[in-house]
Amino acid sequence: MPNNGKICVSVTAQSASEMLEKIRSVAASADVVEIRFDSLEEAEIKPLVDQLPSIAIPILITFRPREQGGYRDLTFADRVKFWESVVGEKLGPGVMVDHEIDIDFALQLDPESVILSMHDFNSSGESMSADAFMELNAATIKIAVAVDDVTDAIHVWNMLRGSNKAAIPIAMGEAGKWTRILGLAHGAPLTYAAPDEGQGTAPGQISAGDLCDVFRVKELDRDTRIFGVVAGDTTYSLSPFMHNAAFKEARLNSVFVPLQVADLDPFIRRMVRPDTCEVELTFGGLSVTNPHKQAMIAYLDEIDPTASAIGAVNTVKVDGNKLIGYNTDAGGFLEPLQRELGDVTGANAVVVGAGGAARACVYALQQAGTNVTLLARDPAKASTFKDEFGISVLGLETENWKLETGRKPDILVNATPTGTRGPNQDESIATADELRNVKLVYDLVYNPLETRLLQEAKRAGAKTLGGLDMLIAQGVKQFEIWTGREAPVNEMRSAIEKRLQ
Ligand code: NAP
Repeated sequence: MPNNGKICVSVTAQSASEMLEKIRSVAASADVVEIRFDSLEEAEIKPLVDQLPSIAIPILITFRPREQGGYRDLTFADRVKFWESVVGEKLGPGVMVDHEIDIDFALQLDPESVILSMHDFNSSGESMSADAFMELNAATIKIAVAVDDVTDAIHVWNMLRGSNKAAIPIAMGEAGKWTRILGLAHGAPLTYAAPDEGQGTAPGQISAGDLCDVFRVKELDRDTRIFGVVAGDTTYSLSPFMHNAAFKEARLNSVFVPLQVADLDPFIRRMVRPDTCEVELTFGGLSVTNPHKQAMIAYLDEIDPTASAIGAVNTVKVDGNKLIGYNTDAGGFLEPLQRELGDVTGANAVVVGAGGAARACVYALQQAGTNVTLLARDPAKASTFKDEFGISVLGLETENWKLETGRKPDILVNATPTGTRGPNQDESIATADELRNVKLVYDLVYNPLETRLLQEAKRAGAKTLGGLDMLIAQGVKQFEIWTGREAPVNEMRSAIEKRLQ
């Protein structure tokens, strides 16, 4: 069921003409445009106030002092003067204002048009209470706090639930994105967005286009099932794009959100487990990634035999009160490999890296009948592979690639982040010379699509596989576990390809 919420795009500019241009440019993707008057040069304020009646779309006017996250140092008198200049005939119907709680008594505005806001950029607002707002002169209240971990946002989310006013709870930062995505479904009248082509005005703001088209925030409701990627850092995850495209295509009332988690224990207890959950959210499943794939096992009620043998979980299904763990990395890894090479029984494989992904690769390769050697930068730390999988664990030195037979491996797998987009993008675990006579090089890294390692492999004449096919194959299996339906593979692939471009 669609909700009644609106997407509000915040715009900033130094001059009135630039602001008007920006308002025009975001009008197509915004239900409401927030005009940040505090970002204007002093001399540009009056010209823009004079233009307000000419703006054809719904607007929200904000004039925020620096200590509340604004762009300017403003005295109390500055703020009163500003608000007095915009009230009256210039505040036509449909115009809303956002002002801070401390100035409420000094202004005589129609409460229906007022959003009373309170910002705390230094904490998750544990000391704040909704009671402070109850008697104030506004129909809507907004509380924005800063969070580092997904559960830090619970306080602000729940604080506004018992309020007698419409409420907009916002947890700023990557870890608070879930509040921006799910707010409208739970009664918030607005969610704030960044312009599609530009910076947001607060940490963690998502673009209006993504809120609308990827997360479908206006179509969600209280019954929407929540899925998400659980990671130490969710900033670069592509899973939300892949899984939301699948939910959209399958017409499911489900959404997939980033869940930046430092500590699994409070997250599972306070947000996920139905019997101890503190938020009104119904989780359907989780995609688990770095650094939680092994630690997640301790929180499961059941574990699938493959995940148990691998010793790592990348998928959790929430089934009633039960959390059931799976590993789809192994199957997702093997599928593209077998498509490329066919039967790999008897082949020699070298896996570089000793993390959660390496575990899935080693397991899958052994299941497919290959002989596996593991190379790690710290072989002593990786010695568990020797005990659990019965394989040799060696250092990264080139000579270790020549397996016991003295031959180069048939398959070389990079299961380290080396070569991932960013400052170390140009690094490779091997050069073309070292890769000569290797049949296939498989890089689990998918961003960029062609890593430095794959370029070196091509120069050496080896076949190559990037991480994209594995990413999609493991995601397809996750979707099928969560929903029991066939996954819309093409939509999942094109959503990821679009994002990587
Ligand atoms: P992880 O648990 O953090 O393990 C990373 C491993 O790489 C660790 O053993 C680490 O060594 C090693 N490593 C890190 N930097 C290295 C370097 N510069 N040189 C040599 N070794 C290095 O990560 P993961 O979950 O296994 O993921 C590994 C990579 O695979 C990531 O890039 C991830 O994005 C990718 N992946 C892709 C897919 C896909 O679907 N395509 C799926 C899963 C993972 P230490 O143990 O010494 O720290």
